Amino acid sequence: MTAPRWIGIGALTALILAGQGGDAARAADSGPAAASAAVTGLATARGDDFRLSGELTQGGWLRGLAPAGARLVQLNGAPVEVAPDGQFLIAFDRDSGPAATLTATLANGRTLTRALTISPRAWQIERVPVGPRPGATPSEAFQRIRAGELAQINAARSINSPSEGWRQSFLWPATGRISGRFGSQRIYNGIPGSYHSGLDIATGTSGTPFVAPADGVVILAAERPFTLEGNLLMIDHGMGLNSAFLHCSQILVKVGDRVRRGQVIGRIGATGRATGPHLHWSIKWRDARLDPLLFLGAAK
Ligand SMILES: [Zn+2]
Repeated sequence: MTAPRWIGIGALTALILAGQGGDAARAADSGPAAASAAVTGLATARGDDFRLSGELTQGGWLRGLAPAGARLVQLNGAPVEVAPDGQFLIAFDRDSGPAATLTATLANGRTLTRALTISPRAWQIERVPVGPRPGATPSEAFQRIRAGELAQINAARSINSPSEGWRQSFLWPATGRISGRFGSQRIYNGIPGSYHSGLDIATGTSGTPFVAPADGVVILAAERPFTLEGNLLMIDHGMGLNSAFLHCSQILVKVGDRVRRGQVIGRIGATGRATGPHLHWSIKWRDARLDPLLFLGAAK
């Protein structure tokens, strides 16, 4: 097995710490909140301003600590769920615009605003000098099956479990060759196809076990292969963050199971629409599609 090749994500990494709000000494604390902060690199002392750390770029995320006394945090005017210890997660779609606004409404009625700049990514674009494949009109039978599958996926995504996986640094679910990157897109004779929504990891064979990249709750475990995704497994990491694993040859957990970071949850396969055995891993936060590579920190 070869180690995954690491691309130049480091250049895109943004580490933002508020100018106010305490230093490392003040942040020293004990208890579970401090332990999780050690994982995410986020200080736990709540100050006068937001403390933020993460990947402020398209397909990226920020973990934050709300200012002391915040009773409401909003991203672009939409409420953001905040944990009892003040930590929260926000993320930015693959096609996110460059500007976002984070606000905290404090108990004294004051509003604190942080303007965020989301850096653009240079997506891998392949121009193909042919038209899109003239797909046959899907049959009625297919459309009926597909509607049921999409309903299952949407129902799963609407589950918000109390999982704390969103606080963790993520593991590679499997070690292998990156055979497809998040966000890559083909343009057929000027007509853009849909972009690749996940990270493909190929180990060369079917049956290779893969693990949960972070703690979570199983929200979908297909009992029979979906038309496109094949055997589909979805894990909720809490706070609106979830992972999907496609094309599995076998799913080793069931809906409702709590899984641990590093626990074997399935086997890689080529079920559904796949040209060979690989694990397609996608991550969403609410409706935003995210780049799994940005959750992984550094390559092994
Ligand atoms: Zn894929």
